[in-house]
Amino acid sequence: MQALCSMVILETTQQLKQTGVLRACTFVPTMGSLHEGHLCLIQQASALAKEHDLEAGCVVSIFVNPAQFDEKDDFDRYPRLLEADAELAMQAGASIIYAPAVSAVYPENALPSSITLPTLATDPGLEDRYRPGHLQGVARVLERLFNLVEPCFAIFGEKDWQQLLLAQAVAAQCPSNPTIVPGSTIRESDGLAMSSRNKHLDQTARTQAGSLSAALRHACNAPSVFKAHAAMLEHMQSAGVKVEYATIRHAHDLSQVPRDLQATQANDAAAYPHGFRVLVAARVGTTRLIDNAAWPSDPSLTKPRRS
Ligand code: AMP
Repeated sequence: MQALCSMVILETTQQLKQTGVLRACTFVPTMGSLHEGHLCLIQQASALAKEHDLEAGCVVSIFVNPAQFDEKDDFDRYPRLLEADAELAMQAGASIIYAPAVSAVYPENALPSSITLPTLATDPGLEDRYRPGHLQGVARVLERLFNLVEPCFAIFGEKDWQQLLLAQAVAAQCPSNPTIVPGSTIRESDGLAMSSRNKHLDQTARTQAGSLSAALRHACNAPSVFKAHAAMLEHMQSAGVKVEYATIRHAHDLSQVPRDLQATQANDAAAYPHGFRVLVAARVGTTRLIDNAAWPSDPSLTKPRRS
């Protein structure tokens, strides 16, 4: 157990048990390098813990999960700022920081994964296609963390939509079965979704990066799926980013949507109760960015934002 100023950082399973965390907390899993997007999730989780009288409050994990990096370079250059992150998380309302070693999450005697990956993590041709092995690594770490922390609720950002859906599927297969709660995407003032990877953008790339959220806004102004696809591609390509996908899908399972579907039809909640999601991914210089929004309209594209 590390004590930094007034903070306590837990590292082991035994410490989690001694602190009374199990089945008595809300949970925000992160890889650290915290920004306002993470801090909003922590505020939400802290309020939820109070609302449900959960004695251990909000637990924030800070763990750079080697299993979910498909590029060694990305793993190596991922920022690691434990003390500063712990301070920020506590200020946002976290009661406990859990920062385990790799050997604590993946001990040699750990049982093999018992999670069946849902098709939404293997078939849509989104993160599953462009980051082979990534979602398997996410499922594995979430299974381990849910089994170690046993939270009542876990909060995930809508920013990583496919991951959010996967978290729901993993949670449903874990004995603690936490309820997964989504948190809105927090954006910079020009609309760029906050991300730990934004730190890697140089001035040119930072300007180009704005084209992802701008493409989502174009899609939301388009009258049909077909026209939305065309508008996104044109906008992102003319900004000079390398598009991996720019697509509208059913929000709950990421399956394909007919290209002739009109925005007016998509607004019919009785016909489409789960709604639609517009999702983009692109390489901006050496950095890969993703973003998404509800289609055909999403309040996060205009707010909440950093002013
Ligand atoms: P990460 O540390 O990148 O693994 O992210 C930890 C959590 O923060 C995940 O649930 C992400 O979806 C969420 N997150 C990342 N960026 C944002 C953002 N801009 N707004 C809201 N949540 C976010």
